[in-house]
This record gives sequence, C-alpha cells and structure tokens, in this order.
Amino acid sequence: MKKALLNIDYTVDFVAEDGALTCGKPGQALHDYIVELTRKFNDDKDYIAMLIDVHYEDDVLHPENKLFPPHNIAGTEGRKLYGELETLYQEIKMKDHVEYFDKTRYSAFTGTNLELKLRERDIEELHIVGVCTDICVLHTAVDAYNKGFKIVVHEDGVASFNQAGHEWALGHFVNTLGGKVI
Ligand code: ZN
Repeated sequence: MKKALLNIDYTVDFVAEDGALTCGKPGQALHDYIVELTRKFNDDKDYIAMLIDVHYEDDVLHPENKLFPPHNIAGTEGRKLYGELETLYQEIKMKDHVEYFDKTRYSAFTGTNLELKLRERDIEELHIVGVCTDICVLHTAVDAYNKGFKIVVHEDGVASFNQAGHEWALGHFVNTLGGKVI
C-alpha cells in the first residue's frame, strides 16, 4: 500500500519558546522524531506533504482572528519550519515526492489540492505528524477518514498546548476514525 507523510504546522510560531501560538515544551519534544521520520520518508522516496498554516496581516475576515492571536503570517520568521525541519526541507524541497501546501484552515484538505495529489499517486495510507493534535491534526484526520484514507498517527510526532485535548484526540483517531496510533 502506498503511503504519504502529512507534516502539519511544525513551525516557529507553533513550537518555539517565543512562538506566537506555541505548544511549548510538548511541541519542542517532537523535533527529533519529526525530522527523523521526514528523513526516512525522503530516503524511501515516499510522498511528503508539508501542510503549513498561512495568514495575511490584512485578512480581516479570517474566522481564526476572533479565536487566536496573529500567527504564521506569510513571509515572517514565525512561519518558517522549526529547527532542523527547516534545514531538511530546504535540502529536499525540489524533489518530486516533496510538496509544500499553503493551508488556510485547520484541515489540510480544505482549500488545497492535497487530495488530488494523493489520488494521482494512488496513496491510501496517511502518516500524520505535527501540531496541534486536537486542532489541525484532528481536523485533517477526520477529513482523511471521510475520504476513505487509512490513518496512522505517530504518537511521538504530535502534541498540543492542551494536554487533555491531546489525549482525547489520540483516542478519537483509534475509536472513531479506525486509525492506528503508533
Ligand atoms: Zn491559523
């Protein structure tokens, strides 16, 4: 079965100590795991989708404006990938099996051509890492389930600023979406 890695929102704003909307320590603890897993998918030439939240300063209508402080603004340091993931991405970004998507809602499937890219490659199994477990990872996993993809969430590769939400979501992936948490 062909698989892909969905690498969600592991950016400076969501992870760094001084990030605009940071998961803090739980997010930073994922760093080595996410970098290693991304490297492995790259070595195996499996598809890697970098799915990265984008906002624009002058976008007064975005629904997140009412919920969260400004974050992942296009062109800022905060929107860069965190730590060595940025370095690795710069090394591999020109490869055919690596793609970057501007994500404008919680789900990576909303407003992107991610599904088309996965279908073109006959990919059936989606491995998910990133933040936050109970927001963008969750909404992406729900859409993946509804579209008939198999879901594998990497426990050492997901985190949230809300520990209760994180744990609830891990259960939901298995009990309600029929996925695996490994
Ligand atoms: Zn956002």
